[in-house]
Amino acid sequence: MAADPIDIEAVGGSGIRAVDRIVEGVSTLEGEGFLVHRPFPSRALPQFDPFLLLDEMGPMDLGPGEAKGAPDHPHRGFETVTYMLSGSFEHKDSYGHAGKLNPGEVQWMTAGSGVIHSEQPSAEFRRQGGRLHGAQLWVNLPRKDKLMLPRYQEIPGALIPVARSADGRVSVRVVAGEALGAHAVIDTRIPILYLHFEIQPGASIEQAVPRSFNVFAYVLAGEGRFSRHAKSTISRGNMVLFAPGGDTVLLEAPSGMSDSLSVLLIGGQPLSEPVVRYGPFMMNTKEEIGQAIEDYQSGRMGSINF
Ligand code: FE
Repeated sequence: MAADPIDIEAVGGSGIRAVDRIVEGVSTLEGEGFLVHRPFPSRALPQFDPFLLLDEMGPMDLGPGEAKGAPDHPHRGFETVTYMLSGSFEHKDSYGHAGKLNPGEVQWMTAGSGVIHSEQPSAEFRRQGGRLHGAQLWVNLPRKDKLMLPRYQEIPGALIPVARSADGRVSVRVVAGEALGAHAVIDTRIPILYLHFEIQPGASIEQAVPRSFNVFAYVLAGEGRFSRHAKSTISRGNMVLFAPGGDTVLLEAPSGMSDSLSVLLIGGQPLSEPVVRYGPFMMNTKEEIGQAIEDYQSGRMGSINF
C-alpha cells in the first residue's frame, strides 16, 4: 500500500521520519525447500546498507516429518542473525560448534573469514511438527572485519531484555540497541538497532533512531501505521523503508483492529562500501569473491565432521 509521499514532520531533517516506500516480500524456497518470505534483496532493492537480506521463515504449520532445513553451506564476509518465534532449529558448523535455537532466542553469527554450517529443524520439531516462524537478517561487515575470526553469540530468550511502556500497551524485545530504557546484551560490529515490538490496537510509540542510520520496519502480524498522515495501514509481510534524516520513527497500531501489531524495527549505520555478492559470499571486490570460492572449494573453510 502506498504511504503519503510527503511527511511534513520530516522536512528539515528533524522529528519523525517520513515513510520513503513500502516493499512487498516475495515468497521463495530455501535450502531443502522451506518457505521464506523475502522483501530483499531484489532487483528493485539489492540491499539496504548495511543490510543484505531479510527472510521471514513461515509462518507455516508443519505436520510430523515435514519440517525442512538448510544442510551444510558456507558464508563469508557478513553476519547472519536468526530470531526464532515458533519452532526450533539446530545448527552445527565447521568450527565444531553446535547449538539449538528455541522460540524467543537469537543467534548472531559473524561468519567473518568463513564458516560452513547447517541449519536444520531440531529432531523433536521434525518429529512432532508444529508452527515454524522466525526471521533471518544478513548484516554486512565493514571491509576491515570481513576476514575476522568467526564468532557466535547465542542468546537465550530469558536474556533478551523486554521493556514495556508505562501503560503496558507497547512491549519490546531488545535484540540489539536500546528501547524504552532497556539495553541489548548482544555486541554488534557496527552500530545496529534490532527491536521486536508488540503494540496493542490504539497504541503507538515514537522510537528514537540514530540520525545516521538506515531504518526499516517489517510487519510480522497485524496492521500498522508508520506516518501520522498515512491514510492506509501496512499489513504483514511488508517492509517499510523510512526516509533518512529524522530522530524518531512512529509505530502505531490503529484502533479498532482485533490483533496487536507485531513488527520488527531494524536499523544500522550504513557502510557505504562496494558490495560484490555471490550466493553466500559478500565481499568488496570480484577478486575477493574469486578467493572465497577457491577457499571454499579447496576445503579451507573446513567441513562439518561430527
Ligand atoms: Fe546459513
